[in-house]
Amino acid sequence: MSRRGLLIVLSSPSGAGKSTLTTRLRAWDDTLRFSVSATTREPRPGEEDGKDYYFVSVPEFQDQVASHDMLEHARVFGNYYGSPKAPVQAAIEGGRDVLFDIDWQGAQQISNSDLQEHVLSIFILPPSITELHRRLVSRGQDAPEVIEQRMQKSWDEISHWDGYDYVLVNDDLDATEAQLKTIISAERLRRAQQPDLVGHARKLQSEFGERT
Ligand code: ADP
Ligand code: 5GP
Repeated sequence: MSRRGLLIVLSSPSGAGKSTLTTRLRAWDDTLRFSVSATTREPRPGEEDGKDYYFVSVPEFQDQVASHDMLEHARVFGNYYGSPKAPVQAAIEGGRDVLFDIDWQGAQQISNSDLQEHVLSIFILPPSITELHRRLVSRGQDAPEVIEQRMQKSWDEISHWDGYDYVLVNDDLDATEAQLKTIISAERLRRAQQPDLVGHARKLQSEFGERT
C-alpha cells in the first residue's frame, strides 16, 4: 500500500540539540527530505546555498511571500525565514516525509495550514537552562553576544512548548533519538497517511457482499 508523507516539524530553543537529532534522523532514513528554508540572513562559514538555506535578498523574500510560494514564514533574530511550498507538496504526494527545522511561529502556521492532517510537530526541550547555555558555548559556533541573544530568544521559544503534538526532553541524546524514531514510525501509520486504506476497506466489504 502506498503512503502519504508527513510534515515533521521540529522546534526547540537554539542549542537544545535539534540539528544533532536531525542529522541522526537523516542517517537513519535517507528517504527523509529536509525542507531547505529561504532566509535573508548572511551565510555562516561553511554554509552552502541550496543545501543549508536559500540565501536571498529581502525583496526576493518578499516576492516569494507575495506570490504565496511560502508554506510559512516568520521574522527570527531580525531576519526573515520561510519554507518554500512546492518541494514540500511534491515530496509528501510522492510518499516522502519532510523534516522542518523551524521556530514556533512557523510550526503554528503549518499546523493551521490546509496540510494540517499530515503534520507531526515535536518540540525539543533542554534538561535545564544551565545545560542549554553550556551546549551553546560548547558548540563553539557563536560569539558571546550571539549566545546571549539566543538565550533571550529561548524564553520566547520555550513558552510555546504546549502547542506541539510531542515534547521531548533531550537529556540523553541516544534516548531522545530512539524516542523520535518511535514517534515517526508510529505516526507514519496514521489513517490520513495511508490513502489506499479506503479502497482496501471497500474491497473487503464487497468481498463480504459476494459471499451472500
Ligand atoms: P540546535 O540545533 O538545537 O541549536 P545542536 O544540535 O547544534 O542544537 O546542539 C548544540 C550542542 O549541544 C552541540 O554541540 C551538540 O553536540 C550538543 N548536544 C546536543 N544534544 C546533546 C545531549 N543530549 N547531550 C549533550 N550534548 C548535546
Ligand atoms: P539559524 O539562523 O540559527 O539557522 O536559525 C534561527 C532560527 O530560525 C531557528 O530557530 C530555526 O529553527 C528558525 N528557522 C529556520 N528556518 C526557518 C523557516 O523557514 N521558518 C521559520 N519560521 N523559522 C525558521
